[in-house]
Amino acid sequence: MSKTKSPPLMEKIVSLCKRRGFVFQASEIYGGIGNTYDYGPLGVELLRRVKDAWWRDVVTARDDVVGLDSAIIQNPAVWKTSGHVDGFSDPMVDCKTCKARFRADKLEDARCPEKPSKHPGECHGELTEPRSFNLMFKTHVGAMEDSGSVAYLRPETAQGIFLNFANVLSASRLKPPFGIAQIGKSFRNEITPGNFVFRTREFEQAEMEFFVPPAENDRWYEYWKQERFDWYVRLGIDPAKLRMREHEAEELAHYSTGTSDVEYEYPFGWGELEGIACRTDFDLKRHAEASGVRLEYFDPQTKEHYVPYVIEPAGGINRMALTFLIDAYREEELEKETRVVLRFHPSIAPITAAVFPLVKKDGMPERAHEIERDLRLAGMSTFYDEKAAIGRRYRRQDEVGTPFCITVDGDTLSDGVVTVRDRDSMEQERVPAAELSGYLLERVRTWKRA
Ligand code: ATP
Repeated sequence: MSKTKSPPLMEKIVSLCKRRGFVFQASEIYGGIGNTYDYGPLGVELLRRVKDAWWRDVVTARDDVVGLDSAIIQNPAVWKTSGHVDGFSDPMVDCKTCKARFRADKLEDARCPEKPSKHPGECHGELTEPRSFNLMFKTHVGAMEDSGSVAYLRPETAQGIFLNFANVLSASRLKPPFGIAQIGKSFRNEITPGNFVFRTREFEQAEMEFFVPPAENDRWYEYWKQERFDWYVRLGIDPAKLRMREHEAEELAHYSTGTSDVEYEYPFGWGELEGIACRTDFDLKRHAEASGVRLEYFDPQTKEHYVPYVIEPAGGINRMALTFLIDAYREEELEKETRVVLRFHPSIAPITAAVFPLVKKDGMPERAHEIERDLRLAGMSTFYDEKAAIGRRYRRQDEVGTPFCITVDGDTLSDGVVTVRDRDSMEQERVPAAELSGYLLERVRTWKRA
């Protein structure tokens, strides 16, 4: 975790994540390892929902995007050609007193490890001149650990897509404009990771390279900026906390002629949630030159070969999950208590429906188990709970964002009707058990942010 003091809301979220099994510190019993996290039972469900929503909307729902799953370790020539070996670096400074290393462009966010903690340089320690630090993790492939066996863990999933451009083109019969999408792990040896899972060294990316005729570049850039911004709003994120920020020329990555970030207002300030970049024909051209393989599209109508331009929406799954968590978190004053509730969009919530027998007798647990099984078979993620008073069971589900709680009571056994309690309004409705799965799926589909 970050050495800087977190805003109180972040501390509450970190503690909820640990207490309820969303996120744990990795290697915790050995004292952890810098900014690396494991995801617990609810955390993996949350990540899965985010990935499913992304894949559904970026790939499955469209006829112009296909998927790919490329290797994490590629031929090292890939990273030389892409510019990552020479250019994927951050400027770093070292403090000559405490020996800590900081990102020169993020000094205002950094804290010195000395106690009491200060900004780098405020302890009268002298800072070195900035030096470039490459963010790629190196490893060796095969039995020999020498310079000939050096390989890299990918710092982005995008390159695997460029490498397979010609394969996908011939296998899928698509023609520009079309996209290739991928979700997978990326690795960056970040020097100042922090803010919980916002910036870690190992993370999952969701990237899509959309190949377009060069003349259509600007139109598709605008399209994907809007589409990706709207996606977060459709999934319940507060639009007042989202903004689109166009990069200044000096911020642009080496391959880009224009980039915009979807930013969110985190408790620690505005931060990038996703970037939408114009990558031009940079990557395909470089790989074609270096490999000697033509990476072009032949347009049968104009009888011309051309190298498509690329628009890339690139987001981080873990950062998205964190954003959904932060945005959903509420503390609500009720008559006798404060309830903590995660108001997730129901399709993002790790558990869709919790099923309770009102009491642990008279056949209610058995009926509740049957209902829970039916919901699972209908594809919903469920949780069965028969412990404690019903009010406490509701609170436990509120805290993890379960949108619906289903209670089986004495009447259910005779009339087949259950009580559905809504997380957001806390209102209750009687619904025939036979219609329950259809009713819940419709509620998930039509949910609106209150
Ligand atoms: P940043 O400026 O935050 O370092 P970036 O501009 O280097 O990010 P990109 O290379 O555009 O990031 O990567 C696309 C997305 O991947 C980011 O918008 C972010 O959601 C995610 N991402 C990048 N680096 C990390 C990281 N270290 N930890 C978690 N997610 C990350």
